Amino acid sequence: MSKILYISSEAFPLIKTGGLADVAGSLPVALLKNSQDIRLLLPAYPEVLKQISKSKKRAVTSYYNLPLEIIETRLPGSNVIVWLVDCPAAFNRPGGPYSDPQGEPWQDNALRFAIFCHAAVDIALGKLQLDWLPDIVHCNDWQTGLVPALLNLQSNRPATVFTIHNLAYQGLFDQQTFVDLELPDELWHMDGLEFYGQLSFIKGGLAYADEITTVSPTYAHEILEPEYGYGLNDLLKNRSQHLSGILNGIDEKHWNPGTDQHLIQKYNRRSLDNKSINKTALQQELSLPRDSSIPMVGMISRLVEQKGLEIILQSMETLLGLPVQLVILGTGEQHYETQLSKLAQLHPDRLKVVIGYDESLSHRIEAASDMYLMPSTFEPCGLNQLYSLRYGTLPIVTNVGGLADTVTDANEISIKNESANGFILKENSAEALLTTIKRALALYQTPEVWRQLQITAMSGDFSWQTSAEHYIALYQRILKQA
Ligand code: ADP
Repeated sequence: MSKILYISSEAFPLIKTGGLADVAGSLPVALLKNSQDIRLLLPAYPEVLKQISKSKKRAVTSYYNLPLEIIETRLPGSNVIVWLVDCPAAFNRPGGPYSDPQGEPWQDNALRFAIFCHAAVDIALGKLQLDWLPDIVHCNDWQTGLVPALLNLQSNRPATVFTIHNLAYQGLFDQQTFVDLELPDELWHMDGLEFYGQLSFIKGGLAYADEITTVSPTYAHEILEPEYGYGLNDLLKNRSQHLSGILNGIDEKHWNPGTDQHLIQKYNRRSLDNKSINKTALQQELSLPRDSSIPMVGMISRLVEQKGLEIILQSMETLLGLPVQLVILGTGEQHYETQLSKLAQLHPDRLKVVIGYDESLSHRIEAASDMYLMPSTFEPCGLNQLYSLRYGTLPIVTNVGGLADTVTDANEISIKNESANGFILKENSAEALLTTIKRALALYQTPEVWRQLQITAMSGDFSWQTSAEHYIALYQRILKQA
């Protein structure tokens, strides 16, 4: 059994903006089930404080003259102990975890997450008298990047793991911020926190963590190349002995078409005929023509370039001329929201766009759709293709990152040996997207083959148990080396 301090800036169901929350809400539960002693450290945002019922104050301190308390509670629906970093000046304000109500990054993000990191470091070193010392400190994404860097300056410290969920977000700030945060001078150099004259939070993790992981094996290779490495590829190459990819799992209780409370009609592998009842229900809900035979393509996503919005928009006119209905749920960059909404107004029978964040609707779209669109330019792991597989909704994806690791393209051989579970674009272009969608639509007309693809998709093992076993093996390896 190891003692693990798991640090994340979001965790489902307390607070979520993306896939990181799903991981931080599930992996600790799976680790606990596997007899690990785990504490989840999370900022006390207002949404989080609203949801907790029982809690107790465990420690009081301050950083940068801002008072802070550590509050202990449980992750809802589990026995995982959560320690909330309750620093009202940093976290208790209306808006998102990283952005203000207008969608602009908080001006003081560096300070906010430096406070979070200092609290983590002090807990890891036993300075807050919590009667619990971790063997492993597991950090996630740039918001936690200072933790491995600061711990590395200590002689007697726990081992550190840093997981990259998305290398595109690095926590870059000017040099003055480094000075203002009073970070130790010995961390300011090109093999440390400095990134071309700027302060890089993520480099704290990449340069100083004992082990680095990413959320899929393919992404772990891709980030060594300039195309996906954002200037950090050389550093990662130097550290490649300590870099590995562990595929995310999914919360199989929450994402289970057989028990999903959000669905009009539950279904499983043996009752796949019932799936289309969800389609006609969604058509009615979203005022699309009611027709169970028309293929429906779904998408639930942050509306940003990464998720393939450029090639989707380039192909849209042609796509909407095909016999399909397209349902998109998302929020993101304003220009994408506007373009998609305009197209939906022009093609009300073909395209429905819902701008917003809606957990329940996302389940109904997964169940209603026949295909799922995810032509990402890069994808560290991707969760929605996994949910789609579980719901017998065949993913149409680019051949990158976690998409490449989880989707097997339907071709003659893979259909014959029953390994096919989706469709992969030959290249990242609008033309390839249309070709692939047409290929999927053609196969949809062969119900026996389509059914086999759905059954293969729904039979895949994407449980957190498998991922948790890999993480535990990694923890044990590090501790042995230490
Ligand atoms: P990323 O973390 O890059 O955004 P992932 O596929 O790893 O992408 O995870 C995204 C998660 O956020 C999924 O659980 C997805 O269903 C959810 N999600 C994204 N946008 C929305 C939305 N508008 N409404 C509901 N859920 C959403």
